[in-house]
Amino acid sequence: MSGMNIDSCIRCGTCCRKGGPVLHHEDKEILRAGYLSYRHLVTIRKGEPAFDPVWEEVRPVERELVKVRGKGGEWTCIFFDEENSSCTIYEHRPLECRLQKCWDTPALEGLIGKDTIVRADIINAGDPILEVMEMHERECSYQEVEELLDSLSGGGKNPQALARLNELARKDLAIRLYAIRDLGLDEDYELFIFGRPLFKVLASRL
Ligand code: SF4
Repeated sequence: MSGMNIDSCIRCGTCCRKGGPVLHHEDKEILRAGYLSYRHLVTIRKGEPAFDPVWEEVRPVERELVKVRGKGGEWTCIFFDEENSSCTIYEHRPLECRLQKCWDTPALEGLIGKDTIVRADIINAGDPILEVMEMHERECSYQEVEELLDSLSGGGKNPQALARLNELARKDLAIRLYAIRDLGLDEDYELFIFGRPLFKVLASRL
């Protein structure tokens, strides 16, 4: 039996179910035009473990990435319409989606990790949230998280490392709460501003 040959997108939705695209500088235009907003985004902080499409495994990311988030707790892109197997922003979809050719992966592979944006690229300079983000990076860095997790690997007991991870997870939540309650940050922007809560990331690692 011969396999099906595909040379154009048949909108099967396979790539949209694997997760939303990482944003590149070219995508700032769709943000400016309002087709994408902070509420559609999630940040993967530097050093955070995430699926790496080149290595096809979960590993700490080398640089901060901003991506279109999934639906609820799922990977499927927030803009994917299951019923019609279509993209609800198809005419204005991000660069990676336009280059996504499951029948011709080199087109996308050439783009991975290049010219990607960070949060500060799409937040007004002078916005007070930038200082809170810096504090969050300082106080709850993934570098420290990884070092602590390393010290726990191999099965050895290390109550101090566990206590410190606990403290970091609590600090992460406290900073989010401070930004929402005291600074009036829109709750829908939390995943973009601070990334996934540390306790959730840790839950998948411990
Ligand atoms: S933005 Fe559209 S094309 Fe891109 S992954 Fe989401 S649903 Fe698919």
